[in-house]
Amino acid sequence: MNMKIGVIKGDGIGPEIVDEAMKVLDRIAEVYGHSLSYTQLLMGGASIDANGVPLTEETLEAARESDAVLMGSIGGDAKTSPWYQLEPSKRPEAGLLALRKGLNLFANLRPAVLYQELKGACPLKEEIADRGFDMMIMRELTGGLYFGERSTREENGVLVARDELTYSETEIRRIAKRGFDIAMKRRKKVTSVDKANVLDSSRLWRKVVEEVAKDYPEVTLEHMLVDNCAMQLVKDPAQFDVILTENMFGDILSDEASMVTGSIGMLASASLNETKFGLYEPSGGSAPDIAGQGIANPIATILSAAMMLKYSFDLDEEAAAIEEAVSAVLKDGYRTIDIMSDGMKQIGTKEMGDRICSYIK
Ligand code: NAD
Repeated sequence: MNMKIGVIKGDGIGPEIVDEAMKVLDRIAEVYGHSLSYTQLLMGGASIDANGVPLTEETLEAARESDAVLMGSIGGDAKTSPWYQLEPSKRPEAGLLALRKGLNLFANLRPAVLYQELKGACPLKEEIADRGFDMMIMRELTGGLYFGERSTREENGVLVARDELTYSETEIRRIAKRGFDIAMKRRKKVTSVDKANVLDSSRLWRKVVEEVAKDYPEVTLEHMLVDNCAMQLVKDPAQFDVILTENMFGDILSDEASMVTGSIGMLASASLNETKFGLYEPSGGSAPDIAGQGIANPIATILSAAMMLKYSFDLDEEAAAIEEAVSAVLKDGYRTIDIMSDGMKQIGTKEMGDRICSYIK
């Protein structure tokens, strides 16, 4: 297969961790006989330095012409970086929002996996950590409360604020289909999370999800209220496969799920649109506190590259090869500083990339 990949190395640790993910993709291409071409794109702080703005029209166009985009994190230290002297619409993060909007990325995927080798970092009870978990949170990204009309007005001397939560059938159907497609590649279970006992938008969500489910008879669908889901994530996370939910609930639940893994440097993510295109990036930030030291954990970015192979190119076997290589390296006791524990062997960013490559045969 010929893969045209846009690469945004980003700021801070971005270039270091993206280099390792590219190394792993190159290794996959070599072992499985694919061809890869990379187009380097600037976004965020690096684009402000080069072009005066965090995202140019040319970058957006080049991203659209790629099959997928691999990205490191963007942004700098808010206290010391000159980027944060600029008005908010010209800062690095504005580039990311404009990129997501410009590419119509409506589905955000965040896996939360507890590796048995790292269960010491899990803040949950030992018997829960022992059982492990491997879930995918699928969050609607472009509708709902965060995109509704809002206003603040004064009524009889009292300030009153209003935020509107709207979802259309079309918006729900397209994310639900994506969720079921992804469940078909996993353990074939979807937990749709809503607040249907209170909200009309949730009742519509539930109705449309049930309609979509009819096209996926192999997938088990269950509905869960969001307050119960927040509890179940800490009580029994192993029950979840794909959690499908709207924007605000997904924002909160995906952060909760990632925190129960305990390891920010391990968390991948993907944002998808209606085509096979996706933007793949680690969930963590640009970690300016450790940038340039060669100690950042590249695994989240490497696992994001594996998601790219799976979701943009349908290369499930190649994606699994990367995931297995990551597990093998952890099993052999190699750790970057952020996941280091007693008795393990501490290695740097490049060595972690090299070791993962060496397990891909
Ligand atoms: P952060 O995630 O960058 O860092 C939080 C802590 O986690 C730091 O101690 C950092 O050293 C550590 N850390 C993060 N990733 C790591 C890795 N791969 N290996 C080892 N340690 C790692 O969060 P922050 O400090 O709040 O934000 C720093 C910058 O990143 C800010 O400019 C913020 O806006 C930006 N940010 C960008 C994204 C993105 O690009 N999607 C997401 C979150 C934050």
